[in-house]
Amino acid sequence: MRPLDRATTALAGLGVAATRRVPGGAILFYHGVVDRIVDARVQKNQLATPDFMKQIAWLERHFRFVGVDEVLAAAEGEATLAPGWICLTFDDGYASNHDRVADLLGARPWACYVSTAHVDDGHRVMGYRVRRTVLYGEGVLRVPTLGLTAPLGDDAGRAKLAHWLAGQLKHLPRARHDAALAEIEGHLSADRRADLDARFASEGFMGWEEVRALARAGVHIGGHAHEHVLLHPGQAPAEVQAQVATSAARLTAELGVAPTTFAWPNGGARDVSAAAVAALAASPYRLALTTIAGGAVPGRQPRWLLPRIGTGTLPALQRGLARRGLEAGRCARALSTLAATVGA
Ligand SMILES: [Zn+2]
Repeated sequence: MRPLDRATTALAGLGVAATRRVPGGAILFYHGVVDRIVDARVQKNQLATPDFMKQIAWLERHFRFVGVDEVLAAAEGEATLAPGWICLTFDDGYASNHDRVADLLGARPWACYVSTAHVDDGHRVMGYRVRRTVLYGEGVLRVPTLGLTAPLGDDAGRAKLAHWLAGQLKHLPRARHDAALAEIEGHLSADRRADLDARFASEGFMGWEEVRALARAGVHIGGHAHEHVLLHPGQAPAEVQAQVATSAARLTAELGVAPTTFAWPNGGARDVSAAAVAALAASPYRLALTTIAGGAVPGRQPRWLLPRIGTGTLPALQRGLARRGLEAGRCARALSTLAATVGA
């Protein structure tokens, strides 16, 4: 065991004493919660209800839940947050956010970041569409846009291919991304796609009625681009501008109030650009959340680059939270390098 592993394991076991020593708090990101996972290889964004509730029970013992509005107030210097807080966020806008998560979380504060075009028409995110095609297709997959011809073989090979393809598409400019995705999806017949979509209902989105019901119940609703297009430096500035502005306009039109916070699609350091930061600064959004791992210290970190910690299993979440103090220096360095590059 490396020294860092020993230290994080020890910290994870210390629970509340350890968490209180770390400045700030942590913002966690989830996607969907379902009672039963049918195929974990496809439903990578879904957490089973018992696993989710185990996390909530543990978090409740060690942290104080706060809402994104409190994080925003701290980022703007209008309030201070005592250390030891946790903030729950859910990305994309999966139907289970309304159908399941709202009941499971009850009165606890949480936030939902929706890609507005997906709520408009129910189409699903690229990662799922690639996984369902590669894992359930037959024969040879051809993706001319990527110069790829790949026989769909054993399960391990398919899982690797799906992961590789999704990674490639994420970092393409919009037009090539759309062309490659159409070629991938064309491998399955419309009937086969419909069958698989019915089987994986967990990957479906809320409609606006459901989003409005969450907002009325006090859930913070934020933006996640219009079409979940990644706002990386390879994206045309006009595309970036449209993704940010349209998401804010659609949320304002449907909810009757302008959104204040945004979660970067994908959210890594490669998924953020100077054009996107400028577009956010010119929009109603006042804060943006990344998936760069680390503890959050709103007011001290750039407001367009707040870190978040991914979830998964409870032990993985505990390790992520324990590391946020040990890795504070690394996170701070990553944020300051990125902030200098993108002008955040
Ligand atoms: Zn997302």
